[in-house]
Amino acid sequence: MAGKSVGNIGVMTSGGDAPGMNAAVRAVVRTAIINGINVYAILDGYQGMVDGTGIRELDWHSVGGVMDQGGTFIGTARCKEFRERDGRLRAALNLVKNGIDKLVVIGGDGSLTGADTFSQEWPGLLQELQDNGKLTVEECSACPKLQIVGLVGSIDNDMCNSDMTIGADTALHRITDAIDALSSTAASHQRTFVVEVMGRNCGYLALASAIATGASWTLIPEMPPEDGWEDRMCGLIRSATAAGRRDSIVIIAEGARDRKGQPITSNYVRDVLEKELKRDVRITILGHVQRGGAPSAYDRYSATVQGFRAVENIINMKDGDESSIVGIRRHRTAVVPLMESVRLTRSVPDKIAAGAYDEAVALRGGSFKNMLNIFNTMMQAVPKGGKPGRETGCFAVMTCGWPAAGMNPAIRTVVRLGLDHGHTILGVNNGFEGLISGDLVEMDWMQVEDWMRCGGTALGTNRTRPAESDFYMIAKNIEKFNIKGLIMIGGWTGYEGMNNLCKMRRNFPAFRIPMVCIPATINNNLPGAELSIGADTALNNIVDVIDKIKHSSDSSRRAFIVEVMGRYCGYLAVISALSTGAEIVYFHEEGVTLDRLQKDLDQLVKSFSNGRKIALIIRNENANPVYTTDFICSLFEEAGGHLFDMRKSVLGPLQQGGVPTPFDRLLGARLAYEGLTHLEKCLAENSDRCIFLGMAEGTLNQHDFSQMENMSSEEHQRPVEQWWLKAAELARSLATIEK
Ligand code: ADP
Repeated sequence: MAGKSVGNIGVMTSGGDAPGMNAAVRAVVRTAIINGINVYAILDGYQGMVDGTGIRELDWHSVGGVMDQGGTFIGTARCKEFRERDGRLRAALNLVKNGIDKLVVIGGDGSLTGADTFSQEWPGLLQELQDNGKLTVEECSACPKLQIVGLVGSIDNDMCNSDMTIGADTALHRITDAIDALSSTAASHQRTFVVEVMGRNCGYLALASAIATGASWTLIPEMPPEDGWEDRMCGLIRSATAAGRRDSIVIIAEGARDRKGQPITSNYVRDVLEKELKRDVRITILGHVQRGGAPSAYDRYSATVQGFRAVENIINMKDGDESSIVGIRRHRTAVVPLMESVRLTRSVPDKIAAGAYDEAVALRGGSFKNMLNIFNTMMQAVPKGGKPGRETGCFAVMTCGWPAAGMNPAIRTVVRLGLDHGHTILGVNNGFEGLISGDLVEMDWMQVEDWMRCGGTALGTNRTRPAESDFYMIAKNIEKFNIKGLIMIGGWTGYEGMNNLCKMRRNFPAFRIPMVCIPATINNNLPGAELSIGADTALNNIVDVIDKIKHSSDSSRRAFIVEVMGRYCGYLAVISALSTGAEIVYFHEEGVTLDRLQKDLDQLVKSFSNGRKIALIIRNENANPVYTTDFICSLFEEAGGHLFDMRKSVLGPLQQGGVPTPFDRLLGARLAYEGLTHLEKCLAENSDRCIFLGMAEGTLNQHDFSQMENMSSEEHQRPVEQWWLKAAELARSLATIEK
C-alpha cells in the first residue's frame, strides 16, 4: 500500500480528555504507517488546526511508551473559533497545506459534530480558499473531500450506538476505588456519604458504581426518581441500618434531576438525610480525579482495537460514504453513522425533559437497562422477603477451582436476592469438599454486606473434583439440607464436577435438581462465556505490574520476559500484550517454534543494536513445555551478549488476588442474578434443567450441560471458539520491533 495516493491522515484529540486516548492515537499512527500513509498529529484539538502551528508528522517511535499515560499526549482543547465558519476556513487551509484529507477525531459528541460540519462544508471552504488565492487548483484537487472517522473519547459513556466509550472504564475504576475508601471510613463512624460523580446527561458512571460498590441509593438523569423519593430513600437506609449496616452511600450523577426537571443537588440530598436520619452526612464531589490516572486494561485494549479499525475504515471509505464512528457494540468494534449517533445522543435530554424516561433509558442500550433493573432489585431487597404466591425453597451456592476476584460479589447477589425472595440460601464451604462433608452454612443478610469489594471467595474453594465414591455423600447432603437448586461459581473443575453430578442422575435421584454454572476464573477458558468473572481483575493486575516493571528499567538495555497465568488459554497473555505494547507474545494456541524464537531473537538483536532501551515479552505459562520461560530467558540472554540483559518475572498468584475491578463486580452481579432467576423458574415449573451461563457478543446465554463437551476442548481445557485470538496479530503488528 506504500506510495498509494491516499493523502495524509490527521489524528487529534478534542474536548474533555479521557484515559485511553493515547492508546487510540498510538494505534491510529502505527496502523497508518503500516499502510504506508503519513500521519500527522493535530496538537490541542481544533485549536492546533485553526492556528496551523500544531500540526506535526508522527513517526513510529513518537507513539512509543504512551499507552500507560492518562490524558492525551497530543493535547486537547476547546476552541471557540472552530465553531465559526471563519475558524473552519483557516483549519481547512492548514490541513490542505499539509496534504491532510482524512481525519480521525477522538472526542465527545461536540467534537464529532464539529468534525461532521467541517466535512460537509469542505468543498465550499476549499472553493473559497481557491477564489481568494490562498490555495491553488492543484492543492485543492489533491484533497477534494475530507473523510472523517470518529472515536468516542468520553468518560461519561454517553454516546448512543456505542456500548463503551474510551475512558469510561477507567473513570469507573477511579470512582469505585474512591467509594471503597469512603465506605471504610463511613463504616467506622456510622456515617452517610453523598458522592457526586460526573455525568451531565448520562447516569452510567453513577449507576455502574452504585452496583459495584453496593451503594444504598443512586440518582441518575435518565430515570428521575418518583415524587416522594426522599422518604423512600430514608426508609431504605433506615432499614439497612436496622439490619446492621454501618455505612450508607448515596451516589448522585451531576446531572440528576427530579420529575419536574429541577436539579437534585448533593446539598439537597445531604440536607434531607441529615434531617430525616439525624446522622452525620458528608458530601464528596469526585471531580477531575475521575478523568485522571493510568488507563485501565480495558481502555487500553478497546482504544487500540478501535484506533486500528478507524484507519482500516478510513482507507476503505468510498466517495459518498458519510462520516462514521468506530465504537464498541456487543463486545466488538462496530462502525456506526456519526451524525445519527450524535443525534440520538443529543435526543436523550429531550426525552428526559418530555418525561419519556423509558425511551431515554432504552437509548442508552440494553446493558444500561439491565443494570438499572439489577440496581433497583438489589437496592430494594430486604433481609426477609418473599411474596405470597412465590414458591420458595433452599438453594445452595459454592465456589470451585482457583479463587477469582468477583466471586464474592456474585455470592452476595445470590444471597441478597435469594433472601429477598424468601428462599433459604446455604453457602457451601470449600467447594465440592463442603458438599461431600456436609459443611454448609445458612447465609445471612449482613454477612455479605461488604463482599462487593472483597477479592477471592469468602466461602473458600479448592480444586477437588468429586470422585465416584463421593457421589453418595453429596446425594445424602442434598437430601439432608433439602437443597432445591445448586449454583456453582468457578472454573473448569467446577464445570466438570457439576456435569458429572448431572450425568449421575439416574443412579442418584437427589441430583435431579436444577444446577447452574457461573464462569469465574482468571484463565478465561470456559465455554459459552467470552469473559469469565476474575479475568478483568487479573488483566488489570498484570498491566499494573508490567507498568511498574517497565519503569524499573534503569539506563541499561534490557528485555523483560513476563510469565502470566491462563493454563492452556492465551487470553491473559495476548490481551495484556495488546494493552501494554509488548513486542513479543507466546501462547499455547499458537505454539512456540524454534524458528519463531530465532526470528524474534534476530529482531531483538537488530533493534537493540539500533538503540532500543527496553523490550517486553509476555509468555503464557503453558505456551510450550520445552521452551519454558527460563529457557527463553537463558537463550536470549546468551545471544543478546553485550547488547541487552534479560530479566524474568513470573507473576504467579498476584494475578488472582486483589480487589475486584468494577467490571468483575458487575459481571458477577449480573450472572448471579440470572443464575438465581433460573433456579426460581425451575422451582416454579418443577424443572431440573442444568445450565452454564455466560455473556457472548454482549448477550447473556444459557447452555445446557449437554453442550459443554462440544463447545470445549477437554485436552486443553478451553473453548473451541475463542474470540480474542486475532488480537495477537494486532498486538504484534502495532509493537513490531523494527520499523
Ligand atoms: P466534547 O467533544 O467532549 O463533547 P465540546 O462539546 O466542548 O467537547 O467540543 C469540543 C470542541 O469541538 C469545541 O470546543 C469546538 O471546537 C468543537 N465543536 C463542538 N461543537 C461544535 C459544533 N457544533 N460545530 C463546530 N465545532 C464544534
